Amino acid sequence: MIHELSKLVKLQKVDNQLFEIKKIKGDLPQIVSGLQEEIDILQVRLKKCADRLQEIKVEIDEANLDINDKKGHQKKYEDQLYLVTSNKEYDALTVEIDTVKHKINEQEYRKLELEREKKDLLEKEKGYKLDFEEKDKVLTEHKEELEKREKETLEAATKFNKERDAIVAGISQRFLNEYERIAKARDGKAIVPVNQLFTEKVDKKGNIEYIPGASSCGGCHKSVPAQKLMEIKRETRLIRCEFCGRLLYWDENTSEILPNDEEVII
Ligand SMILES: [Zn+2]
Repeated sequence: MIHELSKLVKLQKVDNQLFEIKKIKGDLPQIVSGLQEEIDILQVRLKKCADRLQEIKVEIDEANLDINDKKGHQKKYEDQLYLVTSNKEYDALTVEIDTVKHKINEQEYRKLELEREKKDLLEKEKGYKLDFEEKDKVLTEHKEELEKREKETLEAATKFNKERDAIVAGISQRFLNEYERIAKARDGKAIVPVNQLFTEKVDKKGNIEYIPGASSCGGCHKSVPAQKLMEIKRETRLIRCEFCGRLLYWDENTSEILPNDEEVII
């Protein structure tokens, strides 16, 4: 077997094991990261609510101070009304009183707006908090389950990852890129064994002979021409399936499918 081919087969076998380990975790990693993202967004929203509520509090306090201040002025002008000696002075004070009253009204209206905004924000905050608590609970449960499964598979995953690193270190970048490219496009299976179906023939003396028949790709199960099969067996260069593009190899243990074997091909 050419050097690179045997290494790629080894790599594929380790990757198949890692794939099985990944399957144990199921879609938990995606669920956990999805929930974490949603929770992060909720936390940002809650922070925005809290910040704005704090600003509103300050703005209402300022408005109250201003109203008190202006009410003081109003009272002062009203007291002065009793002391005026001319119409002109009276009119001037009346204008001042009207102005200050108008400003107080403006502040009261502003306060009403702030209170309304505060009410809406508190309502929103309540919703976010409920959502947060609910999601956080689900996240914790999923995280615990994922951690449990990770713990269970850690030993095997570490072993296979180590093996993988060692194999990868010995493969040239060109072949590795090719392997990764096909694996990505073909459900993690870049190199697969070719299968050859054998039929049984019994002669008059009762001797059984196995006659080689059609062969197929172990990935897409489509036909592999006889000429190609010969080349695959010769192992002098990398051969790929013309249908799915996966690399093909002859596996001494599994490629021959005898009549009694359970696997159905083609
Ligand atoms: Zn194929």
